[in-house]
Amino acid sequence: MTGSMEGVERFDSPGKGRGLRVTRAFKVGELLFSCPAYSYVLSVKERGCYCEFCFNRKEGLARCGKCKKAFYCNAKCQKGDWPMHKLECSAMLAFGENWCPSEMSRLVARILAKKKTQKERCASEKILLIGEMQSHAEDEDNEKREMSEADIAGMHRFYSKHLEVPEHKDLVTLFSQVACNGFTIEDDELSHIGTAVYPDVALINHSCLPSVIVTYKGTSAEIRAVQDMKPGDEVLISYIDLLYPTDDRNNRLRESYYFTCECQECKCKSKDKAKLKVRKQSDPIEPDVISNMVRYARKTIREFRALNLDSVAPPSELLEMCEQSLEEMGAVFDDANVYMLHMMYQAMGVCLYMEDPDGAIRYGEKILRPYSQLYPPYSLNVSSMYLKLGRLYMGLDRHSAGMKALKKAMAIMEVAHGKDHSYLIELRKEIARK
Ligand SMILES: [Zn+2]
Ligand SMILES: [Zn+2]
Ligand SMILES: [Zn+2]
Repeated sequence: MTGSMEGVERFDSPGKGRGLRVTRAFKVGELLFSCPAYSYVLSVKERGCYCEFCFNRKEGLARCGKCKKAFYCNAKCQKGDWPMHKLECSAMLAFGENWCPSEMSRLVARILAKKKTQKERCASEKILLIGEMQSHAEDEDNEKREMSEADIAGMHRFYSKHLEVPEHKDLVTLFSQVACNGFTIEDDELSHIGTAVYPDVALINHSCLPSVIVTYKGTSAEIRAVQDMKPGDEVLISYIDLLYPTDDRNNRLRESYYFTCECQECKCKSKDKAKLKVRKQSDPIEPDVISNMVRYARKTIREFRALNLDSVAPPSELLEMCEQSLEEMGAVFDDANVYMLHMMYQAMGVCLYMEDPDGAIRYGEKILRPYSQLYPPYSLNVSSMYLKLGRLYMGLDRHSAGMKALKKAMAIMEVAHGKDHSYLIELRKEIARK
C-alpha cells in the first residue's frame, strides 16, 4: 500500500488475481481510504473552470502568463504544476491551433515525466506499482491498436522536445496499462473533468454489485462503502455503467478489461427482465421481434456515439436521431427499457446543450424513476440525474419540485461523497437560497 489504509489489505482474490479486502467492519457511507493521484490531467475543455493543479472549481482563476491557456488558484498552485505544465506550455505556443494531443497522450506524458524525476530521486514504491499494473497490449483488437498508434504519434509530435519518449513497444504497454487502469474524474453531474491514475484504486476488482464507490476530492480519489462490510469482505467497485443487462455489461467488460464478470447479478440476472421491459400489448410480442429490436438499439447506440464523438453533426440532427429511434423502439419497448432510457438520456444531454430546459426536464422526468429502480441504491448516475433535474426546476422557479429533487441527490451524495464534501456544501447553499 502506498497511502495509509488502515482496515484494508491486499490479498489474492480467487479467480481474479490480486484484490483488496477489509480487515474490519465498515458501515454504509464510511470512508475506506483516500488515494492521491499518481498522475493526472485536466481536460482541455475544462480549462478556465478548474485549477490545473488542485482541480478546485472556482471563478477568477489566474492564467499562465506565457501560454495563457492554463489557469490556477494562485502562484503556489502554478508553481506546483510547473513540472507537468512545462511539458505543454511552450509546445502550445509553438503549435498554436494545431496543438491537439489526446487526453490519453497528455496523461502518459505526465506519467513519463514523473517516472523520470522519481528515478532520479531513487525508485519509490509507486513506480513499482505503475510497473505492476496489468497490461493487455497483446489482447488489443485492430481498432484499439490504431487508436494507440495515433496516441503514440501524438506523443512524438507534441512531447518529444521536452521528454525522452521511450521505444515503441514500451509505449504500447504503457498506453494499454493506462487504458485499463486510468480513472476519469467527473463532477457532481458526471461531467468529465480529467483523467488520472490511482495505483491503489487500480487494485480493486469489479462487481456489478459493488461494495464501494469512488468519488473525487480535488485530484484525490475517495473510496466509501455503499454496503455494510464485515471483516474479510472484498472491496469491489463497478468498472462500467450498471444500467445495462448482463450480456451488454459483459461485452463491455471483455472489450475494455478482458474478463467476464461472475458476480451474483451476472449469475442470476435478476434485473435483466426489468431492464429489457417490453410494452404491454393485447397480443404478446414474438421473441424474434424483440431480439431484432435489441440489435437495432445496440446499433443505434453505437452510431449515435460515433456521431457525437466526431461532433460534426449539428445538435438538431442528434436530437432528431434520438427521437426517431425512440419512436422505432417504442413500438416494442416500454419507456422504462434501458435502451429507451439510453436514448432519452442522450436527448436530455442535447437539450441541455441547446439550452432548452423544458425539453431536458421532459426527458429527465421519464428517466428518473426507472433509473432509481435499475441502478444500485447509492448510484452517482441516479444522484446526478436528481441534481440536473433539481437545478433545472430551480432555474424555472419551480421551487418545491427543485427542492425535492435536490434533497434526493443530497441523500445519495452524503453516502458517496461524504457529508463534508464541497459539492454538498454547495448543494446545501442552493437549497437554502431557494
Ligand atoms: Zn489550485
Ligand atoms: Zn503556460
Ligand atoms: Zn457482474
